[in-house]
Amino acid sequence: MRIFAFYCVFFGACLFALPTHANNKSKHIADYNMSVELDPVTKKITGTQLITWRNDSQDHVGDLWFHLYMNAFKNEKSTFMREWAKGRLGSFTPRMKDGHWGWTQVKKLQIVGGKDITKDIRFVQPDDQNKDDQTVIRVKLPSPVPPGGTIKLRTQFVTRLPRAFARSGYRGDYFFVGQWYPKLGVYEKAGVRGAKKGRWNCHQYHATSEYYADFGAYKVDITVPNSYIVGATGTQFTSKKHPKRPVTTHTFTQKDVHDFAWTAYKHYRKFVRIFKADRDVSLKERKAVAKRLGLPLSKVKLNDVKMIFLMQPYHVHLLERHVDALKQSLKLYGLWYGPYPYKVVTLVDPAWEGSERGFAGMEYATLFTAGTRWFVHPEQRGIEKLIVHEFGHQFFQGMLATNEFEEPWLDEGINTYTDIKIMSKLYPRSQIIPRFLHLPMSFFSIKNDPLGMARVGHLALSPKLDRLSRAAWKFYSPVSYAKQSYAKTGLVLQTLERVIGPQKMARGMRLYADTWRYKHPYAKNFQDAINKAAGKDMTPFFKQFVHGTNVLDYGIGLLRSHKRKKKYRGVFDASKPPKALVKKPKKRPAVRKPTKKKVIQTTIDLSKKKTKKKKEKVIYDSDVLVRRYGEAVWPVEIEFTFADGKKLRKTWDGKYRWKRFSFSGPSRLISAQVDPERKLLLDINYANNSRTLKPKARPQVSWSLRLLFIVQNILQFMTSFLG
Ligand SMILES: [Zn+2]
Repeated sequence: MRIFAFYCVFFGACLFALPTHANNKSKHIADYNMSVELDPVTKKITGTQLITWRNDSQDHVGDLWFHLYMNAFKNEKSTFMREWAKGRLGSFTPRMKDGHWGWTQVKKLQIVGGKDITKDIRFVQPDDQNKDDQTVIRVKLPSPVPPGGTIKLRTQFVTRLPRAFARSGYRGDYFFVGQWYPKLGVYEKAGVRGAKKGRWNCHQYHATSEYYADFGAYKVDITVPNSYIVGATGTQFTSKKHPKRPVTTHTFTQKDVHDFAWTAYKHYRKFVRIFKADRDVSLKERKAVAKRLGLPLSKVKLNDVKMIFLMQPYHVHLLERHVDALKQSLKLYGLWYGPYPYKVVTLVDPAWEGSERGFAGMEYATLFTAGTRWFVHPEQRGIEKLIVHEFGHQFFQGMLATNEFEEPWLDEGINTYTDIKIMSKLYPRSQIIPRFLHLPMSFFSIKNDPLGMARVGHLALSPKLDRLSRAAWKFYSPVSYAKQSYAKTGLVLQTLERVIGPQKMARGMRLYADTWRYKHPYAKNFQDAINKAAGKDMTPFFKQFVHGTNVLDYGIGLLRSHKRKKKYRGVFDASKPPKALVKKPKKRPAVRKPTKKKVIQTTIDLSKKKTKKKKEKVIYDSDVLVRRYGEAVWPVEIEFTFADGKKLRKTWDGKYRWKRFSFSGPSRLISAQVDPERKLLLDINYANNSRTLKPKARPQVSWSLRLLFIVQNILQFMTSFLG
């Protein structure tokens, strides 16, 4: 193995000499073999690339499109910076000074064995025509790449990292390097994501989104000063000190990914743990999941994974919490959506309390950041939530490589749905503890109910403002983007789970994850998987809650329950004269002195009369008006509760604006509740969901009891001095 590694380092691209698709699970469209060096003083990365692109379509492709993400930080006129300024994303507003700006420059672009096409590079702005934006380039090829053909390109490039405020950059001697190299867009052949004919999909870098790329194999040599500790996508192949200069070259490789990120920092404390599938997942757990998913046990089997933790020295005491959360994530995501396939996963605890610099939680291939804070309370589970969520992106957007620019809900939202499930399962007692001057104020803590928090997120901004299936940069505001893509989607899918049932939902999710692993699914593919598992067409659900802005709000408009009258007044037979005109002779009651015996007799008579009265049938007529206050239409259940304790459930199709439910029976209707099991989490107003009829006597009794209680207490208090 060592000899093989030796040859690879010295003879370069041996990785690419191997049969490209040997043992590969994904279709390798774009392979990158890069050699780069970081200068910590100038904050520049100088590098070369050998890019291999395969034309998987039936088209003759005459141009190539690349992302130059770092140009988003070139000046204030870039689309990213304009969007950031408009939306004031995050709590930190960047004050970029001279020397803070970042950029990528392609110095040379040459076809291997062919023409230098550097001069043919053009900046293009497919999203907003902002001519100042230089985050996408297009280069026309001298001759098109034929269907099934391959083109190899060599580039020389320089990336100057910006001072970090959004996901990537430097701060002092800390470097986080994401979206840093010239990277091909996706040529979507006909049929992919509904494309009618082949097209390049290569969006500008926006403040709210960044990912969409093709799978491939990466081999990257990263040269940094000897004192730096490096973490990166994939497995570290070798680490070799330069014979003359005080630098070390770290080589990382990874196949079946569509991105490569890395970090370098002098002060990381590195820890390695192993997730052992046989030890960390019990047979009982596997059997339970296999049964729920309807899969053989062999399909619910996980792999061993090397877990690398790059911690800040002052967060080492929190290491075990990181380890536990990552293990749980590997386990649950793996059991539910298929095993994590890579040999390694790296968790980066970013420097400078990353939460304030925008790189607290970001996902990259086999590597993600999950920042933490000082003084973390044991019941405060922000770290765990971040780890669960960011790891989850290895599946949603990582392996299920959706277009994050155009359909952010498919990665952020599905991931939020899953992290709500995991957090509710693992940490039901977790708390949210506000901070003051960075110190936790435990006194003001509130229970962290993940579903409740998602509802708060959903209702924080007008629910009608946007639909969730919208391109990331086209939302009303960044807040609306976040609300729709995270909280709302989480709630939509949690509602879907309650509507079709947890088992069908679990099977639909697994079907989607298995079918689309290493591919580019879009909304329809997700819906198809759910439909198949649900056994019915859920289009009305998706149409309203994914592709529409209708809000859901059902409630009880009115509740009445009256004792039926024994006699009704009025004319019931017009041929007879009215009763009032018929004179009856009045009888005077005889007044007699009652004897003792007779008194007793009278009493007995009265009681007899009373029992007779009780036996008389009492009928209550009850009416309930259930109303649809929102525009969304969905069947609802209503539960009616009667005074004798009986409960009755009815279903209404919810189509018209209201529906009357009438009952007649021996018991008074005392309450009615729409959606008693709280399946419809999207209901924007729970307050109108139920009405209760309180017997008039009750409040008086309770007030009198309270008064009595108060008086008793006062008396007791006073008498205590006397004793
Ligand atoms: Zn996310």
